[in-house]
Amino acid sequence: MLMTNRLNLPQPIVDAVKAHRYDGPTGQDERYSVTTLIGPPQIAQLVRQHENELVEDVSERIWALMGSAMHEILAKANTNAIVEQRLETRVDGAVVSGAFDRMALIEDSRRKAFVLQDYKFASVWEVIYGTKPERIQQLNLYAWLATCNGYKVDAIENVMLLRDWKMREAKNNHEYPQQQVAVIPQPLAPLEDTEEFVVERIALHRRARAGETVECTDEDRWMKPEQFAVMKTGNKRATKVFNAHNEAFDWATTNMPAGKWEIETRRGEAVRCESYCPVADFCPQRQKEIRG
Ligand code: SF4
Repeated sequence: MLMTNRLNLPQPIVDAVKAHRYDGPTGQDERYSVTTLIGPPQIAQLVRQHENELVEDVSERIWALMGSAMHEILAKANTNAIVEQRLETRVDGAVVSGAFDRMALIEDSRRKAFVLQDYKFASVWEVIYGTKPERIQQLNLYAWLATCNGYKVDAIENVMLLRDWKMREAKNNHEYPQQQVAVIPQPLAPLEDTEEFVVERIALHRRARAGETVECTDEDRWMKPEQFAVMKTGNKRATKVFNAHNEAFDWATTNMPAGKWEIETRRGEAVRCESYCPVADFCPQRQKEIRG
């Protein structure tokens, strides 16, 4: 992958980003990192096929760099935790590996439990609206991997460092996260269920490797549905937003002053395809959608 520096960021940042590029399994061997395994097979396959043509800008890696910085701090501070290790195991003929780069397995004497924590920089919205499902899958896969490598895991949790947290908002709104760090316990799935999930994911990735098109799901594409906003005439903010036009219409006719409202259609979008997917230019599914 070619790295650019379009914003002319200082050279030490460029060097740091290059030095902290992903160090997980790449290439044609049947090895999967946990992140790759839970991710869409189509992305993984297109990355393999177009690795030398992909371009990424240093500015897009800043939060990943912050994650690496956090890992360095954790590795120095936490003497009782497993950090900075790549664990792996073989399942169904493939190797699955995971790096405890932003993870810690700690012995919590208060709870008498071994707790696997995943440290992440995240938005406050993720605490308000709920953790993304892939965070929970990722934690469970790490717990499974740790267990396969002889560690005991009793509980899993996300430790979110909220990068857009605002103290003023916390003071004025009790439903807003009250601290800049949120510790969110997650459900620990039975190991057999996680292993079954791993085998299913390997099967999907195998199909993509064999040349079959494994299209991304709406969930993979972070699909935001089309919405209908009831607007008071002249206002820029919606009074209420609905997923169906008829619901918006019915509500507006009952609750809004006659002749003083309108319904604005907000187009749905595949957020990942449009803004975050590194292989969108090479993706047949995306290109077909653009062509209509
Ligand atoms: S562009 Fe969208 S559909 Fe294509 S691989 Fe990326 S996420 Fe999947």
